[in-house]
Formats: sequence, C-alpha cells, structure tokens
Amino acid sequence: MAETPAEAASPAGAAAAPAAATAPAPTPESDRPLKLRVQDLHVVYRGRGGEDVEAVRGVSFDILDKPHIGEIVVFLGPSGCGKSTILKAVAGLLPPTKGQVLVENQLIDGPGRDRGMVFQQYTSFGWLTVQQNVEYGLRLRGIAESERKTQALKILKAVGLEQFAGRYPKELSGGMKQRVAIARTLINQPKLLLMDEPFGALDPQTRWEMQGMLIDISHREDNTILFVTHDVSEAVYLADTVYVLSKRPARILHRIDMPTFKDRSLAVKASPAFRQCEEQLLGLVYSQ
Ligand code: ADP
Ligand code: MG
Repeated sequence: MAETPAEAASPAGAAAAPAAATAPAPTPESDRPLKLRVQDLHVVYRGRGGEDVEAVRGVSFDILDKPHIGEIVVFLGPSGCGKSTILKAVAGLLPPTKGQVLVENQLIDGPGRDRGMVFQQYTSFGWLTVQQNVEYGLRLRGIAESERKTQALKILKAVGLEQFAGRYPKELSGGMKQRVAIARTLINQPKLLLMDEPFGALDPQTRWEMQGMLIDISHREDNTILFVTHDVSEAVYLADTVYVLSKRPARILHRIDMPTFKDRSLAVKASPAFRQCEEQLLGLVYSQ
C-alpha cells in the first residue's frame, strides 16, 4: 500500500493518485471533478462554564470523483479523537469554528439530501414497515406511490432485504436494521454517504457481511462513501484510501492508498497481504 505524506492530502498539495485498480478507465487526477473539499477545518466545542474542547485542528483533504465507480474513504483514529466531529461538519450538522466544507464546489451551511448519514444507532421508524421506512425520503418529496415502490424494492434487493419488505424493524436483527438504515439513505441517491462506525454494534460475522455488502454497493451505485472507524481491520478491508488521524484534536497524519481485497470470505483476513496492511496501520495509529 502506498503512503503519501499528510501534506499531500491538503488541497494545496499535490495529491497522489488513489489506487487505480478498481477504476474501469483511469482518468488523469486533474480531470476528475471535485466531490468534496474540506479546507482547514477547525472545531472547538464551547464548554458552558467548563473548559472548551478542541476536537478538530486544521483538517484539509480533497476527494475527487472516480467516474462510474464508487469509492470508500476511511477516517481511522483512536476513540475520542474527533472523527464524528469531522463527519458532522461535512453533514452540515455542526458549523465549523474555522474553515469550510464544499460539496461539488458548493459551500455547505447546513444538512442536505446530497449527504446521507448512517450512524451506529439504528435509526428506522418503528411504526413503519421496512419498505415504508425505505420509501420515506421519496414520500417527503411527493414521489408517486408506484415509483416509490419500484425504487424501494430495487434498493432493498441491493441490501439483501427484499424478503423483508413487509416486516417491522422490531422483527429484524441488528444487521438487518442497519441494512434498512443504509437503504433509507441510498434511496435519496446522495452524492456522499457519511457513515459513522455504522457496524460497531454488530457481531463479527454480521459485521464482515455488512462490510462486503458495502463494498459491492459502492461499486454498483457509484457512491462516494466517507466511513469513520477506530477498527484497523475494517479500514483495511473497506478502504480505497485511509486517512489516519491523530489523537484529539484530530489532525491528518497520513494518507494511504489501500490495495483492493476482492475475496468476500473471512479467510482473506488471515492472508499475509491483509495482515501486513493491518500491521502498518496499527503502527501508524497507535504509535503516535
Ligand atoms: P470520535 O468520534 O473520534 O470518538 P468525537 O468527534 O465524538 O470523537 O469527539 C471528539 C472530542 O470532542 C471528544 O473529546 C468528545 O468528548 C468531545 N465532544 C464531542 N461532542 C461534544 C459536544 N457536543 N460538546 C463538548 N464536547 C464534545
Ligand atoms: Mg465517534
């Protein structure tokens, strides 16, 4: 895996090309449209009476769109370092103390449908069926019922829930509930899918299946996914690119282009190539 210095991640630096292995026809870096630009992001939580907490310090990076294929960019850092804060700023849920966020060159100043967020906690509506949950965003936009149904069933198939369209969330396992949350977000066709440790509450086997599903979805749906985790193995498996963050306040320490692991069986985790990537990332995260 190729490491580039952290400065190369900055918009001002010469960003190295992400691993081109998954792109059907590699486009020169400079020709690719800018999907996301985070520029000199600082976030300080103002303590009410207490101390201010500096969560993010001077984070800058660009994500260029890879045509015809999705991409998973992982932010890896220790718990409490400021990962969720970065994601919330990109989601528009939190105004930066300093710096800015641009999606396709548009300045972000609040939440929008172009950015879908999936959290660790399950976020479906208990009183709606799986299909009604997935259709919800389209319903808000006044899309006709037949069109809603067509789209919902297509997305439910993509996340492996087509058999469960009529069930209620309480009848589903944790992994299935999280599939509903992902489907609800995907149906809005967001430019960016923002995922904050979404598989953190799942058992290892389910987590592994969900990771494989996410990679498959990202390749099929052409989504750009920003994925936050403190789990090194998850980062190795999912990421096209990994940004390693410092302890709080979060700064970008390294940008690493990861190899693609096509194998969807758990055995891949034991392969020397996978282990080597894990060891390198572990060293970068925990020897700071
Ligand atoms: P991570 O997602 O990497 O675990 P967070 O971004 O959630 O970290 O938090 C970074 C730091 O900011 C932590 O020290 C956390 O306690 C603090 N923090 C998060 N949210 C708030 C808040 N609303 N008010 C004050 N401090 C906060
Ligand atoms: Mg967090």
